[in-house]
Amino acid sequence: MGKKNVLKALRGTKKSKTVTDEVSDVVVVGGGSAGSVIAARLTEDPETRVLVLEAGREDSLWDLFVHMPSAFSFPIGAKNYDWQYESEPEPEMNGRRVYHARGKLLGGSSSINGMIFQRGNPMDYEKWGANPGMEHWDFAHCLPYFKRMETAAAADDNDPRRGHDGPLYLSRGPATSPLFQALFKSVQEAGFDLTNDVNGYRQEGFAPFDRNIKYGKRWSAARAYLHPNKDRDNLEVRTRALTTKILFEGTKAVGVEYEWQGGVHRVYAKKIVLSAGAFNTPQLLQVSGVGDEELLRKHGIDVVKHLPGVGENLQDHLEVYIQYETTKSTDSSQPYLDKWRWPLMGLQWLLTKKGPVATSHFEGGGFVRSNENEAYPNLMFHFLPMAVRYDGQKADVKHGFQWHVGPMFSDTKGHVRIKSADIHDKPEILFNYLKTEQDRREWVEAVRVARSLLDTDAMAEVGAREFNPGPDVQSDEEILEWVRNDGETALHPSCTAKMGTQDDPMAVVDPETMQVWGTEGLYVVDASVFPSVTNGNIYAPTMMVGEKAADLIAGKQPLAPQPEVTWYKAGEGMPLYAEGERVRDHKTSAKGAY
Ligand SMILES: Cc1cc2nc3c(=O)[nH]c(=O)nc-3n(C[C@H](O)[C@H](O)[C@H](O)COP(=O)(O)OP(=O)(O)OC[C@H]3O[C@@H](n4cnc5c(N)ncnc54)[C@H](O)[C@@H]3O)c2cc1C
Repeated sequence: MGKKNVLKALRGTKKSKTVTDEVSDVVVVGGGSAGSVIAARLTEDPETRVLVLEAGREDSLWDLFVHMPSAFSFPIGAKNYDWQYESEPEPEMNGRRVYHARGKLLGGSSSINGMIFQRGNPMDYEKWGANPGMEHWDFAHCLPYFKRMETAAAADDNDPRRGHDGPLYLSRGPATSPLFQALFKSVQEAGFDLTNDVNGYRQEGFAPFDRNIKYGKRWSAARAYLHPNKDRDNLEVRTRALTTKILFEGTKAVGVEYEWQGGVHRVYAKKIVLSAGAFNTPQLLQVSGVGDEELLRKHGIDVVKHLPGVGENLQDHLEVYIQYETTKSTDSSQPYLDKWRWPLMGLQWLLTKKGPVATSHFEGGGFVRSNENEAYPNLMFHFLPMAVRYDGQKADVKHGFQWHVGPMFSDTKGHVRIKSADIHDKPEILFNYLKTEQDRREWVEAVRVARSLLDTDAMAEVGAREFNPGPDVQSDEEILEWVRNDGETALHPSCTAKMGTQDDPMAVVDPETMQVWGTEGLYVVDASVFPSVTNGNIYAPTMMVGEKAADLIAGKQPLAPQPEVTWYKAGEGMPLYAEGERVRDHKTSAKGAY
């Protein structure tokens, strides 16, 4: 029996444990952030059957660590939630390995992330659009997709820049506690502006942030896109299904091999979409024969397509936590870190979905240009009204807070390269943090700007005392040494299978179709395809890419661009608020703060 007939015969038995081969129209590898969008959008056409293979497990509703917003530090480092990556010893970070969490469950990283929603500056997409062949990825073309995916609960109903009825519900951080109010006062005293909405007309400035939290619960990509559509006959999601290899006939991808329920299975499809994230997507391409031929041969892999850009161009944001004690204020959220309070707070959340654990506490912050030569913000600040590391390690103070800060446009590049032909072996990941002069200069500026924001009367009133890094760290070299020892990733790895034209030797993905250059039937849609990292957290851009890619893969007419929508550009004499925009002082919470 030929392959086609075998597959035909097996059709309809796909739930059986004995299945080894089957067919679908589309296979999506990775039920994470972008994978959820692709699966949901493609199955809007009832004629398109989609099988999602997710290596991790379900995001069950009983799983408090996923759904309770303030519990997000628990999954980090836990093998049931996290791929547990770490970098190679970073040469400019005193040889430290930097830990990198990646979501390993339905919803992917969106099921364990900090829930901060940042589109990035419109200029990021102007930069994308300026690359050859990427004109249709400029901001005017991306904006309709941002809007299609969002329900921006805090936006005014007639706001032309925000989405009002998309799957991604975004609540706006209330940021009304006395400590947040002192922060907003402080930054203004230091000469910076407030802004209405960092995802709206003007990103630059300080404001409450949008969050992926809906009525007190994490609103992951899986919850927004997969679960509402799980009854579709043409959508099937398999969890604990690890894709091990892409199957090719020549350069045509015809299916994938995967491990599931103790067996090895194969599924054949017309389209294979890789949405396995910025580490696993290049790894899967490489073990399957797509990548730099020298690397592949070294590991005994037959070359399907020599594409030297696979796994290269790795970009990320490094950040530090500048930590303060508040000696005159008792308004921080630090007491919520006391374990004895957790049962009561947990119970309140279980019964009402309200209270201190119904927020990620990342309720606001801002974007700043560290010097007048920058065309748009190169620093992002997150304000956390408690002093604690991402892994849950709390500082020894009664009350405190911290800035998360770091440069957004580091020009350092790293790579993801397989160490063996076996998908189970973690790849070599190197970022080269702090390697360039520009990166180091921006780091010194970042720390100095952060300090200037708090060298104010407003902060004197709360008795803010910096204890990390502390007053001993002053010179450029002292600052850099502290960053080397204390810097952590902001968890934004991206750009490892970048979009670009075929004549760019390092381009991997065709920006017109999302297909991998030089192959057929093989697509990439996740944070790997960014040509360059945006100037904020990258979940929102990843989801926007997913929305737009779904149309390109389905062969639909893309949404019409919106060049008429303006945005603030520094140094061009533009007004601080858009015409008709209601100026907000952030003293009371916006509608949609829950
Ligand atoms: C702890 C943490 C905090 C973060 N905080 C924020 C934040 O507050 N705001 C923000 O904007 N961004 C944040 N990020 C970053 C952001 O969440 C991610 O960059 C984004 O979600 C990546 O989306 P993706 O689709 O590229 O990959 P993912 O969402 O990671 O999806 C990849 C999926 O593929 C699956 N997979 C991988 N390999 C295979 C395989 N071989 N077979 C089958 N399945 C496979 C994975 O299990 C995963 O589910 C954070 C990330 C982390 C980890």
